[in-house]
Amino acid sequence: MDKFIGYTCSICQHDYAPDEVTYTCPKDGGNLDVILDYDAIRKKYQPEDLLSRANPSIWRYLPLLPVSAPSGDATPLHLVGGTPIYSLTHTAEKLGLKQLWLKDESRNPTASFKDRASAIVVTRAREIKAEVVVTASTGNAGAALAGMAAAVGQKAVIFAPRSAPQAKIAQLLVFGARVILVDGSYDDAFDLTVKAAQEFGWYCRNTGYNPFTAEGKKTAAFEIWEFMRNQMGTGMRASSNSITIPVNEQRLAIFVSVGDGNIISGLHKGFKDLHTLGWLGRMPRIIGVQAEGSAAIANTFHDFIKSGSEIIHPVQAKTIADSISVDLPRDGLRALRAASETGGTYITVSDQKIISAISDLGQIGVFAEPAGAAAFAGLIEAKNQGWLEADSPVLVINTGSGLKDIRAALQAVQPAPIIEPTLDALKRIFP
Ligand SMILES: *Cc1c(COP(=O)(O)O)cnc(C)c1O
Ligand SMILES: [Zn+2]
Repeated sequence: MDKFIGYTCSICQHDYAPDEVTYTCPKDGGNLDVILDYDAIRKKYQPEDLLSRANPSIWRYLPLLPVSAPSGDATPLHLVGGTPIYSLTHTAEKLGLKQLWLKDESRNPTASFKDRASAIVVTRAREIKAEVVVTASTGNAGAALAGMAAAVGQKAVIFAPRSAPQAKIAQLLVFGARVILVDGSYDDAFDLTVKAAQEFGWYCRNTGYNPFTAEGKKTAAFEIWEFMRNQMGTGMRASSNSITIPVNEQRLAIFVSVGDGNIISGLHKGFKDLHTLGWLGRMPRIIGVQAEGSAAIANTFHDFIKSGSEIIHPVQAKTIADSISVDLPRDGLRALRAASETGGTYITVSDQKIISAISDLGQIGVFAEPAGAAAFAGLIEAKNQGWLEADSPVLVINTGSGLKDIRAALQAVQPAPIIEPTLDALKRIFP
């Protein structure tokens, strides 16, 4: 536990000791970055020490995580992460790209990226002996918390908007969490959760509030780094080697969908950790993708480019991609910086384009929920806008499974014909 040495506020840069605060900065409500003892880690470990481990889950990176190993083994909580990265050669060709990969987070135990965060928060909850963990969720964060909590016998309470997709609500209930459906938006559920945690003394997992969620999400950056070390050689290796990279070598561009902005912030934090340790030469470019109808951070990104303003104005969110439908992003500032500090950008996509991206990904054997497909729609948009060079290697993250929201999936396809069970009827379809 001594590798975790405190927090820094993302707004005022004030440092806090680990036991001084629990959630956000007491001065300004800023999100807190977890600070590790990088010197100690660097002295004790080489990248190879982690990468030679047999465990393919997030726990292979334990020396870089602010928690101790969870007790027990081989539960869903112990097996989060290690998701596949597919090479999309044919799609790359179609889009005029040299190299394209897709990291499929739907392969996590509860079928979304959120398992990474919930595994770390539940482990933290056990360490601080929290009796109940609570979260607000559009569905996936709740399912992940409920699943991870069930895996280790932790009590969980979930607040979700009553409009959440049925499959997600079913998941919460099956995992045995106490589920409260709020007659309001995700933002209403969020505010109620914070109040409930204070009132009842529960440990709150809320995204963009609890500093440990980003620490879980950063593990995807570690996996991408590890994969790229093998694929691209020196570009993703230690800084001492990076001197030899030709200046015109393209950096990896990572496309990820953004709602509250905690996944993109977590990815950025993961790459920053590796960079600070001297284990990563050049940062990848991080590109946030938002739905046109829920684009608070993308709006600020464009303000920032023009005027340097980092102020995030809430929107009235409306999009088919429920997982990224957010009025006021709770991790907006760090999400903005994930793109601005890495030479990335923000792209917005219409619901129509999100729906066609579901079908595009389906054609290559990946079933994505709308928020997951949004990242791929963003790649197409970036390419069309001429933002992306053809020789830039690209990795797209699918953040969640299409099984989470089949109503949206059915909008992406033609209905199947219904026929009488005769050859004649069949021959009318295959003449
Ligand atoms: C939560 C979620 C996102 C967005 O993550 P944020 O941290 O809210 O930006 C994207 N896709 C899926 C499937 C999600 O569940
Ligand atoms: Zn502060």
